[in-house]
Amino acid sequence: MQNNTDGVPEIFRKKVERLIEINEAYAIQYFDQLLLLEAYKKKHPTRVVVFKCSDGRMLFAHFTGTPLGYLHNFRNLGGQFNFGWKGLQSAFNYHVKEASNDNSGCLAIVTYHYSEGDAKRGCKANNFDKVISIRGAERFARQIRTAYKDIGYPASVDVVVVGVETDEDALILHGENGDHQPVNLGDSSPTVSEKELLQKIRVLFPSMSTTMCVDFLPLIHNNIKHIAKVRKTKRPITELDHNEFVVGIGGSLAFDWFHIPNIAILVGQHNPNVERPIKSALEVIKPNAKKEGFILLSGASYGKHNPEAFALAEAKYYSRLGQELVKQYHPELLEFMYPMKILLNTETQKFKMF
Ligand SMILES: [Zn+2]
Repeated sequence: MQNNTDGVPEIFRKKVERLIEINEAYAIQYFDQLLLLEAYKKKHPTRVVVFKCSDGRMLFAHFTGTPLGYLHNFRNLGGQFNFGWKGLQSAFNYHVKEASNDNSGCLAIVTYHYSEGDAKRGCKANNFDKVISIRGAERFARQIRTAYKDIGYPASVDVVVVGVETDEDALILHGENGDHQPVNLGDSSPTVSEKELLQKIRVLFPSMSTTMCVDFLPLIHNNIKHIAKVRKTKRPITELDHNEFVVGIGGSLAFDWFHIPNIAILVGQHNPNVERPIKSALEVIKPNAKKEGFILLSGASYGKHNPEAFALAEAKYYSRLGQELVKQYHPELLEFMYPMKILLNTETQKFKMF
């Protein structure tokens, strides 16, 4: 189904079209990699779930060289999660059970991000404070570990904390016991062997199963190669100009297609107190919104995991909530806002507006 922008007011049309373009480009890329994805999953059966900030630079699949769709993303403003959120528990446990059904394990990668070159390129939602970001990631990782310690699923659940240095997309591995210095993959030689890396993984994560270590290995190895490529091409550093024009509210699968820096602030992701991050997002977007307008994008996904009618109700709810909060806290923004609602088909990764 083709998305039609005829009904979109003129001042917002270009913005809406831009989102449609981004989604279509991603869907094509996703489709192209489908066969690769199936083969990759057979070879590396561990189900990998990544918890990360909704910052558009967190292109984990890109800098770990994994096919699109292999990593299951949870994104929230500032990478802030709490395992006490009921919806988050269920959504994560779905992955654990799926892994268990496939007789494999589930690896949760809990991330934070920062910039080596300039603290101001770090995580705005955490006040650019790396220590706060690390502490938050470690706290959440501990929560998951504690929750699954005695649960007795046949599948194993393992959790690692990984930093992302965004100037070079370098991963920082934090050992599970905290008795090792974090390992910056930017310090590894591009010619390092898989055997050496495997040994490194074993030292940092002694409780990780062999299969999981073997499945974690390519992400690390590919990242080292990726860093070398970034250095070689002297890729310009993505500056954060905070010219976002989208506040996106939605479920964890609704926005996988949306990884472009400086466009969107995404919130939701199973936070029962979703009002708070929506309000923060509106604060961030306010100066820009008044100049150029903004899109209040609500989304939910449907497919094998969720019937379309459920997703419809979810997206409508997010839209209503978002609009109510704008009315209540920033009524002056109403005339600059365009509420856009989408349903994402997880099979095709295409959205449709409704
Ligand atoms: Zn961030």
